[in-house]
Amino acid sequence: MTTVETIIIGAGPAGLACAAALRARGRSSVVIEKEHTLAASWHRHYDRLRLHTHKMHSALPGMPMPRSFPKYPSRLQIIEYLEVYSSSHDIEVRFGVRATTISKEKVWTVDSSDGAFQARNVIVATGLANMPIRPNWAGQELFTGKLLHSSEFRNAAALDARRVLVVGFGNSAGEIALECAEAGLDVGMSVRGPVNVVPLELFGLTTATIAIAQRFFPSRLVDALNAPILRLRFGDLTSFGLQRAKKGPLTTIMERARTPLINIGTVERIRSGDIRVFTGISGTDGRRVLFEDGRSEVFDAIVLATGYRPALDTLLPDFRRRFGGADAPARGQLQPAADGLYFCGFNAVATGLLREVGKEARKIAASIDSK
Ligand SMILES: Cc1cc2nc3c(=O)[nH]c(=O)nc-3n(C[C@H](O)[C@H](O)[C@H](O)COP(=O)(O)OP(=O)(O)OC[C@H]3O[C@@H](n4cnc5c(N)ncnc54)[C@H](O)[C@@H]3O)c2cc1C
Repeated sequence: MTTVETIIIGAGPAGLACAAALRARGRSSVVIEKEHTLAASWHRHYDRLRLHTHKMHSALPGMPMPRSFPKYPSRLQIIEYLEVYSSSHDIEVRFGVRATTISKEKVWTVDSSDGAFQARNVIVATGLANMPIRPNWAGQELFTGKLLHSSEFRNAAALDARRVLVVGFGNSAGEIALECAEAGLDVGMSVRGPVNVVPLELFGLTTATIAIAQRFFPSRLVDALNAPILRLRFGDLTSFGLQRAKKGPLTTIMERARTPLINIGTVERIRSGDIRVFTGISGTDGRRVLFEDGRSEVFDAIVLATGYRPALDTLLPDFRRRFGGADAPARGQLQPAADGLYFCGFNAVATGLLREVGKEARKIAASIDSK
């Protein structure tokens, strides 16, 4: 049994920010990470990924992103930044250690693949995108092409397919479809419901930066103010198979933790016909995909860009009972039961999650330091 003051589960941006914020207050912590590298999720993301948030608003507390980085750093630059961040803050990370359960008697116990840790405080920083969501449909096992989740997609060339169907309309879906269209593949997107689309930049400002400026206003008011601008920017996409969601982008993030598509060229490719939009999938047979509206088409590969879930119930088996059946703690709840169990990185925001985890880390460190 190892005894520590604070144990942090996960060495992604949130876990590292918490460790650095505690250290800045002279408090010790140990970070455990199930993979053998930090920023493991950024190692897994597809090759072309760049931040959608300005680097100025994406740095963790205590270390700006380098001047040499572009406005929207690449996936590899984020990994480099997090490695330098960890070493310059002297953060102790134990790699290859997977937390299995968290329980409390007098103090917290975290059982792990490397034995048990006892701690006064536990910070769960395992990420909103911990476990891929893989939808099922009738005859999925009969599909003879490639079937993969977006977390397994690297680039269009590695996919080795001519006709690709991307399922979903989030940012991974939009970007993977765009990559495949740019590579000259025949691309379809399966989109089940109404969508929200926002531009990467408006009047030269990053959308997330505009969201930061608007953050004190009610989400419905912000959506109402932005709606005419978005209508002007994207026009009516109904004839291309896309219905505009009744609730605006910010309201949807706040109520359903679903981010809009930040357009970096997908909409233009849909308009030009390079990407065709289909409805939800009703079945597959061989290489043929059947859609809910009765259409059918042949594809060599299906990429499920259908998101992730935090899967907190795997660590805390009674999570859903304790937190009212929800997937993650209620918005803004960093320590829901005021009992030393903290959560960092579970508040989906329009202002950028990297900026948000930095703010949360500072609050968590202040709370632990005040005990
Ligand atoms: C494709 C994509 C693009 C994004 N782009 C942006 C952007 O442009 N700007 C922005 O602000 N945000 C962006 N985000 C959102 C967010 O900033 C990132 O997901 C960020 O990595 C979240 O950090 P995290 O530390 O909360 O989670 P993660 O980076 O997912 O880190 C969690 C860590 O916990 C580890 N872990 C999980 N379970 C266990 C366990 N049981 N035991 C031990 N370790 C465990 C994982 O291996 C992982 O290393 C993006 C997210 C995605 C998915």
